[in-house]
Amino acid sequence: MNARADTAARTADGLDVEAVRARFPILRTEMQGRPLVYLDSAASTQKPDQVIARLTRFYEHDYANIHRGVYELSQRASALHDEARRKVQRFLGARDWREIVFVRNATEGINLVAWSFLRPRLEPGDEILVTEMEHHANIVPWQIVAGERGARVVPAPITDTGEIDLAAFAERITARTRMIAVVWVSNVLGTVNPVEEIVALARAKGVPVLIDAAQAVQHRPVDVAALGCDFLVFSGHKTYGPSGVGVLYGRAERLEAMPPWQGGGDMIERVSFEGTTFNEIPFRFEAGTPDIAGIVALGEALDYLGELGLERVERHEAALIGHAQRALAQIPGLRILGEPRERRGALAFTLEGAHPQDIGMLLDLEGIAVRTGHHCAMPLHARFGLSASARMSVGVYNTEAEIDALAAGLRRIAAMFQ
Ligand code: PLP
Repeated sequence: MNARADTAARTADGLDVEAVRARFPILRTEMQGRPLVYLDSAASTQKPDQVIARLTRFYEHDYANIHRGVYELSQRASALHDEARRKVQRFLGARDWREIVFVRNATEGINLVAWSFLRPRLEPGDEILVTEMEHHANIVPWQIVAGERGARVVPAPITDTGEIDLAAFAERITARTRMIAVVWVSNVLGTVNPVEEIVALARAKGVPVLIDAAQAVQHRPVDVAALGCDFLVFSGHKTYGPSGVGVLYGRAERLEAMPPWQGGGDMIERVSFEGTTFNEIPFRFEAGTPDIAGIVALGEALDYLGELGLERVERHEAALIGHAQRALAQIPGLRILGEPRERRGALAFTLEGAHPQDIGMLLDLEGIAVRTGHHCAMPLHARFGLSASARMSVGVYNTEAEIDALAAGLRRIAAMFQ
C-alpha cells in the first residue's frame, strides 16, 4: 500500500479510496525510491485492472477483425464492438446508438466536425465562436478550415476569475456565427463552464454547438439529450480507458446531413469506378479498421465508472480540489490561476521566482508527477500574462494525503527560490 495514502480514506459518501487505489496496479510503482504521487490525470488517467484485463482477454480469446467475417470469432468481436457503442450511448445519455462515432481521440472528433460539418458551410466573413480558455484542439482545427474559406475564429473573453463572461459571449454571437465550440471543463483552470446556458444561447440563435468534454465526462454525469448540444467529444485515455480511442457524439440529423470525412473500407455502401455510395451513420465516418480492442476496453472503463458512480466520483474529486486550493493558497509566493465558482479536476499555479519547469523537475525528485508548460492552452496563458504554469490534476484514485505531499514539496521549493 502507498505509504502516503490516507489510512482513513473512506470519504463521507462512502467512496473507499484505498479500495479504488488497489485496482490501479501502476499506483504501486515507486519513483525515485518513493511512492508515486500521480497528479497528472488531466493529461491521461491511469487504468484500473479490469480495463487492462479486458484488453488482454480480448486479444487472448475474442480477437478478429469486425464486420467482415462470417466465422464465429469475427462475429464475437463484432458483437463486443457493437456492445461498446451501446455502452457509450448509455454513458452519454444519447437517444440513438447511431449518434456515437468512434474516433482516435477528442482532437480527431473536433477535426471531423470541422472538416465534414463546418467546412462545406463556411463562406468568407463567417465566424466560429470559441473562448479564450480552449485547448488548442478546440482552436486550431477551426482555424485551418476558416483560413481556407476566408472565415475567422472569434475568441470570447474570460474574466480574471477564469470564467466565461457570458454577456460578452452572447454579444459575439452574430449573424455571421456558423459554429460555437466551447470547453466544458478547462484543462488548466478547472473551471466548469455553464454549458447548459451556452447551448441555450446557441440554440436561440440557431447556431450549431460543439462541447469539448475531454475534461468533463470522467468527473461528472453527462446527459447529451438533456443538454441539447449538436456535438460532443471526449477521449478514452482521459476516462480510465486505453489511448487511441475517442468518441464523437453527434445528433443524428446533423450526422445524417454530413458527407464522409475519410474514404476506405466500412464507410461505403457500394463501390464502382462509376461512383461510390456511402454507408449509414455512424459507419460513414469510420473508414478502415478501428482500434477494436481499445473500443471494447473503453466500454469496460465506462462500466468501471458506472460501478463507482459518477456522482460519488464528482463529490470525492471536488473535495480533493477544494483541499488543494486551501493547501496551496498557504504557500508563500504561490499564485493559483483563476478563482472560478466551480472547479473540477485541475488547478494551475505559478511560484514566484521559480520557473514551472524547475517546479516540475524538483517535484519529480520526490516522486510527484505534475505537468508544466502551456498545457496546450497558449492563448489562455497569454490572457493571464504568462507563457507557462504548473498544473496538478486529480483522478478518482487521489487522496488528500497526496495533495499534502504536493503542498509540502512546493513549500520546500518556495523556500529555495525566495
Ligand atoms: N480538449 C481538452 C479540454 C483537453 O484537455 C484535451 C487534452 O488534454 C484535448 C481536448 C485533446 O485531447 P486528446 O489529446 O486526447 O485528443
